[in-house]
Amino acid sequence: MAGYRQEPRDFTHHPCLGLDRNPPYSAVGGEQSVSNPALGDLKRQIPLLEYLQAQDWRPAQRLSRGRLMGLCPLHNEHQPSFLVDPSKSLFYCYGCGRGGDVIRFAELYHQVRFPQALTLLRQWRGLASVLLETAEFYRMQLHRHGEAVAYLHQRGLRSPELIEHMRIGYASGGCLRGWLMRLGYAPPALRQAGLVSAMGYDTYMHRIVFPLEGNLYGRSLSAAVPPHRFLPGAKGGLYFWEQVRYCPEVILVEGLFDYAALWQAGFHNVTCSLGNHLNACQFRQLCDGRARTVYITFDADSNGSGQQAAQCLAGRLREEGLNACRVSLPDGHDPNSFFVQGGDAQQFQCLVEHARP
Ligand SMILES: [Zn+2]
Repeated sequence: MAGYRQEPRDFTHHPCLGLDRNPPYSAVGGEQSVSNPALGDLKRQIPLLEYLQAQDWRPAQRLSRGRLMGLCPLHNEHQPSFLVDPSKSLFYCYGCGRGGDVIRFAELYHQVRFPQALTLLRQWRGLASVLLETAEFYRMQLHRHGEAVAYLHQRGLRSPELIEHMRIGYASGGCLRGWLMRLGYAPPALRQAGLVSAMGYDTYMHRIVFPLEGNLYGRSLSAAVPPHRFLPGAKGGLYFWEQVRYCPEVILVEGLFDYAALWQAGFHNVTCSLGNHLNACQFRQLCDGRARTVYITFDADSNGSGQQAAQCLAGRLREEGLNACRVSLPDGHDPNSFFVQGGDAQQFQCLVEHARP
């Protein structure tokens, strides 16, 4: 990327990258409650690079011997000083001076102690693979169920590229458990993940399913049940943040159907916070030190809650030095309904151009 250093300093042999015998864990009272072979297994199952990428980290430079350099996820910086050696699964930051393996990274990144870091990593490992299989299974089901496709059409989602891009699926119900058991997942693990009920049914039954980072969003087709469903746990970062983080102008919406409508209309610099309250991770993503303008396009609800949230967020973003504007939709509209009821890209662009601070 332009602006990054061309010639990295000499990173040939930092001591932390050769160190794997005595990792700098914050051992609790000196107790060695977890045996080293168990730690070794966990670390083999979770390559550091894979875990970093799941936390939205991307390298800015490739160095010799496969090593990578990027912005440090542990402290705020503008020049990459976070060095990763994927072959050893170790990291070291020349900015904040911290380094170690994937467990040490989880401790620092999530600000937890060693045992909690192990628990988080084990949960992440188990959940990541089962969510991937689940999303794939639901994706295959989508076009076999006319009611699901009809619902998408009703919400204005028609483009095959969009459905592919968002990996949209459908939970027709009652069959996920059998599929995942054939792949070797045990029923208690599926219940614990929140995918299958005690009776063995899909908890996302009759919902359109969108895979998220570490979670699934389900939109119910029926008005008889709550419209939104997530798995227990964090909703994760901003939706498809990696694809928009380098855009100088970013449109931020509340819902995935809003995201879909804008993306389909050609606004690919859109991201979604899944609700009008940003979690700490999402806020940190927007305030990553890059100069950008954020066009907050929350719902114009009748009770004003979307606009209040937008105003509050715009203020917080400006305090962090960002340019933040609020896009006003016609009363009662969200970006999805704006397009469904005949709005087009040119009209939306006009609203963006008239956005207010
Ligand atoms: Zn750092």
